[in-house]
Amino acid sequence: MQRFTYNQLPGRVRFGLGMLDTLGEEVERLGARRALVLSTPEQRAQADDAARRLGNRAAGIFDRAVMHVPIETARAAREEARRLGADCAVAIGGGSTIGLGKAIALESGLPILAVPTTFAGSEMTPIYGLTEAGVKKTGRDPRVLPKTVIYDPALTRTLPAKVAGPSGMNALAHAVEALYAEDANPIISLLAEESIRAIGRSLAAVVREPANMEARGDALYGAWLAGASLGAVGMALHHKLCHTLGGSFNLPHAEVHTVILPHAAAYNAAAAPNAMARVAAALGTDDAPTGLYDLAVRVGAPVALKDIGMAHGDLDAAARLATQNPYYNPRPVELSGIRALLEDAWHGRRPALVRAAG
Ligand code: NAD
Repeated sequence: MQRFTYNQLPGRVRFGLGMLDTLGEEVERLGARRALVLSTPEQRAQADDAARRLGNRAAGIFDRAVMHVPIETARAAREEARRLGADCAVAIGGGSTIGLGKAIALESGLPILAVPTTFAGSEMTPIYGLTEAGVKKTGRDPRVLPKTVIYDPALTRTLPAKVAGPSGMNALAHAVEALYAEDANPIISLLAEESIRAIGRSLAAVVREPANMEARGDALYGAWLAGASLGAVGMALHHKLCHTLGGSFNLPHAEVHTVILPHAAAYNAAAAPNAMARVAAALGTDDAPTGLYDLAVRVGAPVALKDIGMAHGDLDAAARLATQNPYYNPRPVELSGIRALLEDAWHGRRPALVRAAG
């Protein structure tokens, strides 16, 4: 019998096509009267629409969210929230915008209502990140967990295919690592497996058929469950590697996750056979690493580090950085294995071929 600890995270979810219509009533339900709407500059129109829906409950819009929450942006947003006397933040966007909301909540305890428009899953986690002097620090704090999340697949309609594919793969990475987490538990494993099933069956249609709301709903549901998995249990090799590559070599977040995932799974395959069997079953394949790789190819996402800005000459340094500090992983993390993994990922080799060759 498995012994485990399970923590239930609080949160209210409204899910469905057209659910953005409930924004006003949900802000009211939080007891808020002065909502600060957050977005990236690119999503200003969606922020305007949210503010219009809120009417006199909208205090203002801060549209300067950017990737990885630079501390200067966080300070400016906190200041704007104070200046406007905001009593709630409505974050409409992907992980970058929701991350900005979290940076405000971390300091002030302001309740966040998140309206995700990508599949990153940040809205379901108490994890925040802040970047200062080029270094991203992450932490967990219950204050940053959004109080309410509105999932409306219609909002992902404008997500370009080249963002949607990697974003879905990024969500899959959370679910895959949750299955072999140090503190894995049966409840979260159910969510993780269902997440992989939902994303696996829908992501190709999301990318190819922008108007297919059934597929978008499925992917968003999978992203929710993947975010909940990330929020509940610890991550391992895949996330540590992506953090190192993203932070030290300035590679794009979701794309790095996409490229590394099949190789991290291959590295861990023999040490986490049950997790891999569940991943494979959920994807409808008989091998998890190749199933993940083939899905990335099917959705047109990048599969090679060389194609997303990584120089081959940096692989040694990356391997050293990624093995410097010990952390939990089902298979011990050692330099030569990680260096080989990075070589495969740099070329974009399909894992089964790698294993057959090696
Ligand atoms: P993002 O939020 O950076 O968005 C990428 C781009 O796509 C932006 O320009 C954005 O405006 C645009 N965009 C988003 N949704 C759109 C839509 N529906 N239509 C048109 N354009 C749209 O990307 P992301 O992958 O969602 O988030 C990445 C960030 O989130 C990273 O910093 C990552 O570290 C963080 N993250 C945090 C957690 C957590 O739990 N804290 C979880 C996952 C990701």
